[in-house]
Amino acid sequence: QAPPSPPHVAILPSPGMGHLIPLAEFAKLLTTNYGITVTFLTLDESPRINSFINALPDTITHISLPKPSLHDLPPEAKAETRTSFTMSRCLPFLREVMVKLKATTNLAALVVDLFGTNAFDVATDLEINPYIMFPSTATLLNLMFHLEDLDRTIQGEYRDHPDLIRIPGCVPFHGKDLLVPVQDRKDQAYSLFLAISTRYKEAAGIFFNSASSIEPGPIKELMSMNRPPVYPIGPLVHDTNSEYDNSGCVKWLDEQRSGSVLFVSFGSGGSLSSEQFTELAVGLEMSGLRFLWITRSPTETVQEKSKNDPLLFLPNGFLERTKEIGLVVDSWAPQLAILKHAAIGGFLTHCGWNSSLESIVHSVPMIAWPLDAEQNMNAVLLVDEMKIAIRPVIDEKRGLFGREEISRVVTELMEGEEGKKVRVNVERIAENAIKENSYRSLDSIVNIWKSKTSN
Ligand code: UDP
Repeated sequence: QAPPSPPHVAILPSPGMGHLIPLAEFAKLLTTNYGITVTFLTLDESPRINSFINALPDTITHISLPKPSLHDLPPEAKAETRTSFTMSRCLPFLREVMVKLKATTNLAALVVDLFGTNAFDVATDLEINPYIMFPSTATLLNLMFHLEDLDRTIQGEYRDHPDLIRIPGCVPFHGKDLLVPVQDRKDQAYSLFLAISTRYKEAAGIFFNSASSIEPGPIKELMSMNRPPVYPIGPLVHDTNSEYDNSGCVKWLDEQRSGSVLFVSFGSGGSLSSEQFTELAVGLEMSGLRFLWITRSPTETVQEKSKNDPLLFLPNGFLERTKEIGLVVDSWAPQLAILKHAAIGGFLTHCGWNSSLESIVHSVPMIAWPLDAEQNMNAVLLVDEMKIAIRPVIDEKRGLFGREEISRVVTELMEGEEGKKVRVNVERIAENAIKENSYRSLDSIVNIWKSKTSN
C-alpha cells in the first residue's frame, strides 16, 4: 500500500518583499523540516521578485495570481489601502486555485499574512482551516487584538492622546509611535486596517516571527489569552544562497577590518527626503568611520532618470572624498551576507522586523531610524525594551536628524560606551534565540494536519 500523501498548505503573502521573504521562509520550514508540500501564491511581479521566486526549492510550487486592478483608487491612497484592496479583490482567483488544490492534494490549510484575513471566507467555504503567518512582532500582534477596544475607548487621534498606551505584556507606547495606518481616523486605511484586525480571532492559529528570548512579555500574554492558538516560530531569517553579490559589497567587506563597518539600509523600499539624504551623507562623512550605504533616491524625486540613480543626489565630491572608507550601493544588496560578515560592526536600520531579526541573529547592534508602517513600534522595542539599539535625537525645528547628531550617534554605536552596552545585549539575545529553536512549536499543528489528512 502506498504511504498517504503529505498534507498540503496554500500560502498567500500580500505584495512586497517584506511580506514575501518571511512567508517564503515559512514555506521552506514546512517543506524541509516537516515534509509538507506547499503552493506559494503571489500577487506581484518584478525582476527582483521573479528571481526570488525562481530560487525557491522545487518542493514549493509557485502560482502567480492575476494582480487585481486598483485604477479606481485615488492617487493619494495609502500603501495599506492598496494592499487591503489587492487582498480582497484577488479572492475570486484564490477561490479557483483553492478548489483545484482541494481536488488534487491533501489540502490542510490556507495561510495568509497580516493583511489577508478576508481570504478566510474562501477557506471556510471550502472547509479548510485558515491561519495567519504574522511577519511582525508579538507586540504588534497583541495590539491587533486590542485595536477594536482602543478605537472605542480613546477619542481623537492616538498621536494626541496625553497618556501612554498600555497593552498588557508589552512596552508602553506614545500614541504617535503606533503603526502608521492607525494614525489618521478619517483615512480609509484606518477603517480597512481595523476591519482586518477584527477577524484575527477567526483564525485557526497564528504563527509569528518572534521567540520568547526576544519578546518574553508579549508572547506570555498572547499564550495566556483565550484566543486562537499562537505559535512563535522565529527568528526565521532568509538564507543567502539565493542572493548573488552583484553589488560587490561582500568583496569590499572582505578587505575591511573586523567590526569596523556601519551598514546603512532602509529595507526593501524606504527612502529619505532629499534634505535628510544630504544630512545622512554629510553625517557619515563627518564621523570618519567606515560605512556601507545602500542608497535609494530621495522621496520627492520626480524625474525618471534621477529616480533610478540615487548617486546623483550625493553631495558634490562625496564619493571621491569617502572612497577610502565607504561604499555606496544603488538600491539593493544581499543583506544577509552583509550582516553575517565579520567586518560589520553596526546597522543603521529603518527597523523593519525582518531587518531587525536579521541583525539580532548576527549579533549586530543597531541605530534605530524608523520611517513607516510599524517601524516606530519596533524602534521602541529595540531601544527601550531590548536595549540593543540606540536612537538619534530629532531636530524638532527641521523635522529631521541633523548631520552632527548622525555623526554623534554613529560614533557612539561603533566606538562609544553605549555601543558597547547594546553590543553585549544583542550578543546575549542572539545566543538565546538561536538555542531556543522556537520553530518546534509547529510540531503540534503539523501533527494535527497529518492526522486529519491521513484519514
Ligand atoms: N533586503 C535585502 N536587500 C536590500 C534590502 C532589503 O535583502 O537591499 C531584504 C532584507 O534582508 C529583509 C527584507 O528585504 O529580509 C526587508 O524586510 P523588512 O521587514 O526589514 O522591511 P520592509 O522592506 O518590509 O520595509
